[in-house]
Amino acid sequence: MTDKMHPNHAILFEPVKIGPVTAPNRFYQTPHATGFGWQRPQSGAALRGVKAEGGWGVVCTEYCSIHPSSDDSPYAFLTLWEDADIAPLAATADAIHAHGSLAGIELWHGGFHASNRMTRVPGVGPQTQPSMFHLPATTRAMDLSDIRDFRNWQRAAAKRAKQAGFDIVYVYAGHDYLPFQFLSRRTNQRSDAYGGPLENRARLLREMLEDTRDAVGDTCAVAIRLAVDELHGPGGICAEEEGRDVVAMLAELPDLWDVNVAGALGNDSKSARFSAEGYQEDYIRFVKTLTSKPVVSVGRFTSPDRMVDQIKRGIQDFIGAARPSIADPFLPLKIREGRADEIRECIGCNICRAANNEAVGLRCTQNPTMGEEWRRGWHPERISAYSRRETALVVGAGPAGLEAALTLARRGLEVTLAEANRHLGGRIAHESTLPGLATWGRVRDWRMTMLAKLPNVQIYRESRMGADDITDLNPDHLVLATGSHWRRNGVGVVGMTPGDYPNALTPDDIFAGAKVTGPVLIYDDEHYFMGGALAEKLARDGYKVTIATPYPQVSGWTIYTDEQCFIQDRLLSLGVQILPQHLLTAQTPDTTRLTDATGQPHDIPGQTLILTTGRLPNDTLWLALRHRPNTTRVGDCLTPSSIADAVYSAHRYARLLGEPDLPPRRERAPHKGP
Ligand code: ADP
Ligand code: SF4
Repeated sequence: MTDKMHPNHAILFEPVKIGPVTAPNRFYQTPHATGFGWQRPQSGAALRGVKAEGGWGVVCTEYCSIHPSSDDSPYAFLTLWEDADIAPLAATADAIHAHGSLAGIELWHGGFHASNRMTRVPGVGPQTQPSMFHLPATTRAMDLSDIRDFRNWQRAAAKRAKQAGFDIVYVYAGHDYLPFQFLSRRTNQRSDAYGGPLENRARLLREMLEDTRDAVGDTCAVAIRLAVDELHGPGGICAEEEGRDVVAMLAELPDLWDVNVAGALGNDSKSARFSAEGYQEDYIRFVKTLTSKPVVSVGRFTSPDRMVDQIKRGIQDFIGAARPSIADPFLPLKIREGRADEIRECIGCNICRAANNEAVGLRCTQNPTMGEEWRRGWHPERISAYSRRETALVVGAGPAGLEAALTLARRGLEVTLAEANRHLGGRIAHESTLPGLATWGRVRDWRMTMLAKLPNVQIYRESRMGADDITDLNPDHLVLATGSHWRRNGVGVVGMTPGDYPNALTPDDIFAGAKVTGPVLIYDDEHYFMGGALAEKLARDGYKVTIATPYPQVSGWTIYTDEQCFIQDRLLSLGVQILPQHLLTAQTPDTTRLTDATGQPHDIPGQTLILTTGRLPNDTLWLALRHRPNTTRVGDCLTPSSIADAVYSAHRYARLLGEPDLPPRRERAPHKGP
């Protein structure tokens, strides 16, 4: 225990034995995708190394395919198909070991989830089944010789994992992947020894545990990752019934139980809008009563007291985390050093999930350095000092302005932050009042906490800056972070022609307290959270709400944040009418005209039309001062986008000030020649 650590938190730093290996503490970074996979091993190694440096006692990789019949292209995944895969993965194990942490690897076979688009090897699974993602391909039912082969793939991959230096090797039966497909009666209608009663459906899992142990010997731990509930009710694996029975059946076979809810990944990594901290507890709490082996689970834990509570109440032995470790790789160290107030808490926005679903490198709203460890050399806690003692004026204290001020101040500039409003936070002040989005306030709160600790920052509230004020102040560097406003002319992603909607309101009007008279029609051509969240708020406030969109689905882009189906369910359950594939074409004082996909016009009576389409930058100051030396704009004032993009844009500017703005490093195969 360090001098400064709160004594209650000491329990989090106890070592825990996992079979033959010992974790130095209870902080366990469960497997999570990075978007780097086998193609970008150095990026992956650097990212995991930073987690270990930040104090996570166990750091795991993302999913690692055991055979070319499990290829998730174009999404990034690791491979242990052949010996040549060992060295790149050893770099990750080494990066984790360099900080005294244990390295875990999640061996994976996707069964009918795998697309095999790259390898073009036919998919295999428990039964003949349409492939989930590679349409119209069909996954082939494995016969007994296929099962023998499959067991050999797992064995061979486990041996290679050990050679690469991993301490914990996974048998992965979660998230609808192959061993789970055998387990669940929803996806296993076999009539042989691997189908029928649960004991048969669990046979492959048992064999995999035995085979993996056999392969890695007695110096590596064998972990099982099991979805104890797939949220399909009694028809599937369910914590009250078969989920419990499988744990009882295999209780002492693995060295560690990593348990969660799954079915699809979206159930496991629910956004804050649809789940609270610790949301998996009701499903997984039984596991520790059935096994003497250590148990780990997840639940977006960011509060040290809640973590301690989990351990003391015997819910789990570790604090499992993917997203909290992405938002703050140094979370454990901050608790150990008595700096829990400095934890950059995950806000549960699932922008990290969007990166995975878009098949690009990991990004995070709270932590702009995530994914940039190798390609830009950015570190979440360290930053180079700026070479000169200079002043910076940041105008606007939204996410971009706060991040710019903080990062410039961390580099040693004398920073003045001027905000027109009394409150700080810009858009967050409003958006965090929408249903389920209160945690988004953490983007503002963490930055305010950190700014308050720095002596070289002055914050001025209620200080609307004009061009003359700025010219008088004459800072060495001027950063405009004045944000954006919603458009009134209906221009959005699909509707590109400006229209005339004189009676329409925008979210800015709603947040400013504009009078809403029902019924309400929201027209959403932005497709992220705002249209759906406003619909939810107004429905909860008692209005009759219709939401129309030119997309086939409401809040269409939130497919990427794994939220779309939850948003749709919630809106329907609140009685919101959803009109997909409707384009806004006109407004009269009494009605709004929408045109459906067949070209038919529909006049919707609505007292209030709210447009969530596009946004425009607040660029008055920029236009007045753009020729001034050392003047820049960041965040929504440059390009209106997500909070994640606003924070990143500001961080990038401040990080690169005085440095060459080079393209990010890319991992290329070595080549000879001209
Ligand atoms: P971003 O997401 O880019 O940070 P926001 O819209 O959240 O953008 O924040 C912009 C902030 O800038 C708001 O808090 C707004 O009040 C403030 N602001 C805009 N213009 C001025 C100005 N001229 N002087 C001071 N603050 C301003
Ligand atoms: Fe958390 Fe959002 Fe960062 Fe993901 S992107 S780790 S949900 S703050």
